[in-house]
Amino acid sequence: MDYLTVEMPKYKPHYKRWKQYGWSSPSEKENTREVLLDAGKGYCMYCYTRILVAGKSYGQLEHAIEKNNSDWLVNCVPNIGIACPVCNESFKRRGEKGRKLRTGQIRRFHSSARCAAAGTRKQCTVPCKALRNLQADYYENEDAHFILQPMGAMGRSSRQELKIVYDILKTKFRPADNPLYDQMDKEFINAHIKRFCLNDPKYRTGKLMEFVRLVVDSRGELPDYECNNLVVELFAEKMKGLSQEKRLKVCEAIYIIEFAAV
Ligand SMILES: [Zn+2]
Ligand SMILES: [Zn+2]
Repeated sequence: MDYLTVEMPKYKPHYKRWKQYGWSSPSEKENTREVLLDAGKGYCMYCYTRILVAGKSYGQLEHAIEKNNSDWLVNCVPNIGIACPVCNESFKRRGEKGRKLRTGQIRRFHSSARCAAAGTRKQCTVPCKALRNLQADYYENEDAHFILQPMGAMGRSSRQELKIVYDILKTKFRPADNPLYDQMDKEFINAHIKRFCLNDPKYRTGKLMEFVRLVVDSRGELPDYECNNLVVELFAEKMKGLSQEKRLKVCEAIYIIEFAAV
């Protein structure tokens, strides 16, 4: 197991069969908000900022492929994600006009969708083929090179899930180590990291090292506090599976390397 990276999540919202999801109706919207907050552990799906604070949500529902492309996208459930106001209103918006889908692409989407998007009763909970094809069209545009959430993205030729990891020693986000990624995949992931300013010093925190230090100070015990940081939360989950002794060893190693690097 690799203890020096934290794999950022692939979102899997658990939609319930007996509930209705969507965006237009307030009750469906509420159901959608609830299931997405849960899937994202209360963090923005794009920049990992905390959006659930003391039970109150600061998140905004947003359409992965912008809803102004087609009315059919408005209530297309897998196309709805949750983000912080900055991502939704600014980071993700950049270049929006330039990546508007063409009429032919929309027409193809309309002629192939068989789900609720097309007004039938079948509600997709994972992206259907029509939506995946539309996503591929969307990605033809360079201004659309970022991972749409919660549906995720696949490498165009590699067909590998595009994943981000947090590199603990380098204290930055980068593409996951997948030998099957090609240059295009790595550039795509890096464009995502750049767009959502994941490595911007303004947004970086020393919270993970704080956590590592607490583990070392308490001789391998897990600190019990609300860290409000997704990377720390995911790292803590990883550490939970280890014995106290192993935990101490891992955290000590990280701590020593970090200090040697300064
Ligand atoms: Zn965000
Ligand atoms: Zn569908």
